[in-house]
Amino acid sequence: MSNWNALVVEDEPEIRHFVRKTLESEGWRVYEAGSMQSATRQAAEITPDLILLDLGLPDGDGVNFVSALRQKSQVPVIVLSARNLERDKVAALDAGADDYLSKPFGLAELLARVRVVKRRLTLARMAQQPETFKFGAIEVDPPARRVSKNGALVHLTPIEYKLLLTLIENAGRVLTHGELLRRVWGPGRIEQGYLVRIHMSHLRSKLEDDPTQPVHLITEAGIGYRLVD
Ligand code: CA
Repeated sequence: MSNWNALVVEDEPEIRHFVRKTLESEGWRVYEAGSMQSATRQAAEITPDLILLDLGLPDGDGVNFVSALRQKSQVPVIVLSARNLERDKVAALDAGADDYLSKPFGLAELLARVRVVKRRLTLARMAQQPETFKFGAIEVDPPARRVSKNGALVHLTPIEYKLLLTLIENAGRVLTHGELLRRVWGPGRIEQGYLVRIHMSHLRSKLEDDPTQPVHLITEAGIGYRLVD
């Protein structure tokens, strides 16, 4: 569930690098293309979950790439472009792009747009998954919003459930206190690391056999938490 692939289509190496680093910091696996030809090939090969697309490419116009892509795929496309006229944006969106970021754009702006897409994809994926997510004796059934341990229903508060799902979506990966606060509680709570500690401790007492020796909800000292299955 933590395998999210993004394809960055951009001919300027500096921007490509910036976008790559930004996405990697959010747990994406990133592929790069510097031309339309390479983008077309990679889009078919890796079936990315998200495409970030520059419009001015050396071998063609990104708008045409989106049109062609839409014949066979509904993968979300965020356009990154220096064309800032309304009609250029409309043309890209009409061709099938999902969103549009004007260059130059900042880190926060890029992350915000990517998160919107990821939230949507996560919901879509979970809704499609007939099977539950299991680790140890724990079973999580997202469509039914049901959590059980050894077959017995476990009651989680909405925050505990959101925290658990966030860890599941990023299984194996360390999530910092700040990242968990932002993802579970939203922006503006970054100073309140105690919230994560309190709710993580509740989650452990409900899910771990020995909450003082957790085997799934692992603390990364001084950094954050990680779900190990
Ligand atoms: Ca370009």
